[in-house]
Order: sequence, then structure tokens, then C-alpha cells
Amino acid sequence: MRTGAEYRESLRDGRDVWLVGEGAVADVTTHPSTSGMVEEYVAWYDRHFDADWQDVLLTEPDGEGERRPLALTPPKTSDDLRRLGKEISAVHFATGGNMTHTPGYGALIALGLLNVLKRLDHSAEDIGAAEVYLESLRESGRFLTYAGGGPLIGARLREDESERVALRLVSETADGIVVSGKIQMHTSTPFAEDLLISTRNDMPAGSGRYLWFIVPVNSAGLRVVSRRPVARHKNPFLSPLSSRFDELDSMVWMEDVFIPRSRVFTAEAPDRNRRHSLVCWLLWHHSYGWLAKAELTLGLGLALAEVMRLTANPQTIEQLVEMTVNVQTTRSCMVAAELEPETTASGYALPNQLHVAAAGINTLKIRQRMSEILRGLPGSSLVNAPADTDFADPVMAAELEDAFGGGGYTAMQRAALLQLAWDQVSSGLDGREAVFELHASGGLESWRRQLAAWFDRYNELANGVRDLVQVDLPPMDLSSLQEVPSPARRMPMPGA
Ligand SMILES: Cc1cc2nc3c(=O)[nH]c(=O)nc-3n(C[C@H](O)[C@H](O)[C@H](O)COP(=O)(O)OP(=O)(O)OC[C@H]3O[C@@H](n4cnc5c(N)ncnc54)[C@H](O)[C@@H]3O)c2cc1C
Repeated sequence: MRTGAEYRESLRDGRDVWLVGEGAVADVTTHPSTSGMVEEYVAWYDRHFDADWQDVLLTEPDGEGERRPLALTPPKTSDDLRRLGKEISAVHFATGGNMTHTPGYGALIALGLLNVLKRLDHSAEDIGAAEVYLESLRESGRFLTYAGGGPLIGARLREDESERVALRLVSETADGIVVSGKIQMHTSTPFAEDLLISTRNDMPAGSGRYLWFIVPVNSAGLRVVSRRPVARHKNPFLSPLSSRFDELDSMVWMEDVFIPRSRVFTAEAPDRNRRHSLVCWLLWHHSYGWLAKAELTLGLGLALAEVMRLTANPQTIEQLVEMTVNVQTTRSCMVAAELEPETTASGYALPNQLHVAAAGINTLKIRQRMSEILRGLPGSSLVNAPADTDFADPVMAAELEDAFGGGGYTAMQRAALLQLAWDQVSSGLDGREAVFELHASGGLESWRRQLAAWFDRYNELANGVRDLVQVDLPPMDLSSLQEVPSPARRMPMPGA
């Protein structure tokens, strides 16, 4: 496993990154809007060498006493899942759930790819290539991210229906393929080294062949176009989260980009209800991210209740209980998912998808309510809390102490906590996170549909009722409830 410094160095690779509102980024490691996030990834790598973190981040020593990063070690048993789950949860909490994509997430993408190819019983060559790639991530710690490969609005509005696609196969030889086009938003690409794209359109058109491929971010002809950085105050005291964790979602534009054969896989058409899909381990990872966000919201609620001297207030206690129930419900689902894993075609352990769906649905349902509670709990102090710099003026410092200090806490302590809470539930970063939740793994509707399709006890429960009624009922078959249609994505119509 490499160090953070080696990772930082690897980003100086000639990548072509354009930042909306700021233009071309010559070097993501030094640009003011990207270098902070680079350093968070540097910290991700370096924690593996930090004695305080190692028991959380590393496997138990093997026969030779070697310990490996858990994040890069595919789980084979329920115990492995429990340890990896704790690792993912701890790492997420360290960023308040804002660093949703890490090199560990990348290893789960590669695991999902391998699993799909094995499930489809693909050629030994394809499966072997996916195995070699996964192993290379384990050894190097190289950072992979993922894009579902949908088209942008411009492509969707083309007159010719056959051209309303994201990607076009320009040419193909025994050596590889050449691809052009533009794909929609995906996360962390300016900071990643490889990108797996699972195309939504068949290539060539009409062939029924869905190509997935892994492309280096610094490939010739590939431009990363990142969304605008979130608005944030330049003083980190006022933006303790958003000054650190803006992981920048991006589009990718490709002009005649060559992908070698060993990185091209023939896979399957998208189906959002499919079990053991490419993203099956990622859904688990997403849920831990959202849980970390919820746990930070609860943590802030608790700390603010104490610092604002509200722990004896019945309404505040009720709000804290509500948030605690919400958080624990999700955590219990996550633990259940790891204790009752599913067996996959690849032989690796997958967190039980039903429990993961229940966790995801719960977190998405409670998110707005949790944020609203935290916005209200500290009162108007949340909005008018001062900055550390305001205390530099002695007159202001004395007045601010009078206005915000007391009850065992200084004005500065109270202000620091209030500013963190503001950044958590009222900032540009929070707004971006809300949109991420709506779209990144399909949103609440998608999770509900998946749970309905995957729930396998409809018949057991309906027929269980027969023993309790006083009349004979014939056996009932409600398996059709599992046939939940996977709706086509909405398509804007030119001229509509
Ligand atoms: C911040 C952010 C980060 C993301 N990161 C990633 C990533 O890392 N990797 C990745 O692959 N994807 C990622 N996504 C998701 C991806 O970019 C798309 O946003 C997502 O697939 C939705 O597609 P779309 O934007 O075309 O929206 P659309 O599909 O046009 O619209 C989505 C909205 O329309 C609704 N909708 C969709 N179909 C229908 C229908 N038939 N009828 C009625 N309503 C419908 C949905 O419920 C949703 O509200 C991310 C998205 C965001 C916003």
C-alpha cells in the first residue's frame, strides 16, 4: 500500500480537469479549490500507517505477520463483513459522511464488476482480466471511481432518436476500442486515477452488446468537467466541513479515447431492480455514508443540547430521542446485513441486500427531519454565531463573551460548535449532499422498489394467516408482488 505522498504524486499525471466557474486546473494537488480534498485523500492513505488507526483499518496479521488494508481486502465471511463494515463506518464518520468515495469504495466497484462477470458466466479471459485488475488495486491502492454512463440533456434532445445516447463506439480492433461521447455526473473523478464506465446504451447501436470499460482519468482525449465547488467561507472556522470535504462530482467528455482490450468487458443492460448488480456492495457503502451523516447530526444535537444547557428541556430530550431511534434503526439494519450475508457468484460475502435496503430507506426517510431538528435545536444562535476572527478585536471579544459565553462554556467554544452545525445542515455542502442522496443510488423510490422486489416472504406471511382463521382458505400465491417493474428512465422529448 502506498503512502499519501505517493498518491499525491500520482495525480500529477497530465490529467485534463476543467472546474465550472474557474476554468482549467493545471494541477489538482495545488489548485485552491481541489488541493484540500487531495489532502483528505492523502490522509486516507496515511491513516493506514498510523498506530492509532491500524486496528480499525488493517486485517489481523497473517502467517507472516503481515497486515493488509481491510478496505482493499474483499470479504469472504460474515466476520470479514463485520470488520469491513466497522472500518467503513469509522472512516465515514471521520469525514461526517462527506467523503462518499474512497479507494476502498473503488475496490468494491472492482469486486462488483468481477461478480457480475462470474454471474453471467463470462469467458475465463474476461473474468481473469477483472481478477487481475482487482488484485492490482489491492497491491497498489490505486483509486477507481464509477460512472453509470447516462447521457447529458443535450444528447437526450437530439432530433435523431438513435443519437440520444451518451457514448459512441468509434472503432474496434483486437487491441481495444475507441470511444467518443459525454457521460453524466459521477463523484470524485478529479481525485481518482481510473474510472469504470458501465454504458447505458448498446455499442454499436442495435447490437444488444453492453460494454463496460475502465479508463485512466489521464487518458488522451478525456476531459473531466467538474461541477462548481460548493460555496463556502474562506475561514475554515466558518466552514469546518465544506472547506475540507468537497469531493467534486464531474462529467467526463471523451474524444476518440482508446481503451485496451484487457480493460473492456461485455456485461449487461442496466436494470435498477437487479439483485447482485455491479453496485451491490456500493449500496452498502452508501448507506454507511448516510448513516455517518445522520450520526454526526445526532452528535451535534447532543453536544449542542449540552453546550446550550438544554439537556433538562423536555422538548429537546424528545428531539434527541427521535434522532437516536432513527440512527439506531439504520445501524441495526446494517449489522443484520453483515450477520446474514448473501453468497455471490464470485464466492465473496455480500451484505444482505434486503437489510441494506431497509437501512437506506430509513436513512433517506429521516434525513430531512433530522436536519430540521438540528436547525431548530440551538435557536437563533445557529445563525448569528461569531467567527474566531471576531475575537481578535478586544472590545468585540468582551462583548461577544457577554453575548455568547456563560453556563460553563466560552463564547468561542459555543461559536465553534454552532458553526460546525451550520455547515452540517445549512451549507452548500449539505445541499449537494441532499442532491447526491436523491440521485446517486436512485433515490428513495428506487430503494423502495428494490425492497419490494427482493422481499421473499409474501407467500409465507399470507399463508401463515390461514392457520389462524376459522375457515379453510386455499393456499395463496402472491409471488407476483416481486415482479416490480423497473421503470424506464424519464426521457425529455425534443419539441415537447
Ligand atoms: C451529486 C451527485 C453525485 C453522483 N455520483 C454518481 C456516481 O458517482 N456514479 C454514478 O454512476 N452516478 C452518480 N450520480 C447519479 C447520476 O449522475 C444521475 O444523476 C442519475 O443517474 C440520475 O440521472 P439524471 O441526472 O439523468 O436524472 P433523470 O433520470 O433524468 O432524473 C432523475 C429524477 O427523475 C426521476 N425519474 C427518473 N425516471 C423517471 C420516470 N420514468 N418517471 C418519473 N420520474 C422519473 C427520479 O426519481 C429522479 O428524481 C450522481 C448524481 C449526483 C446528483
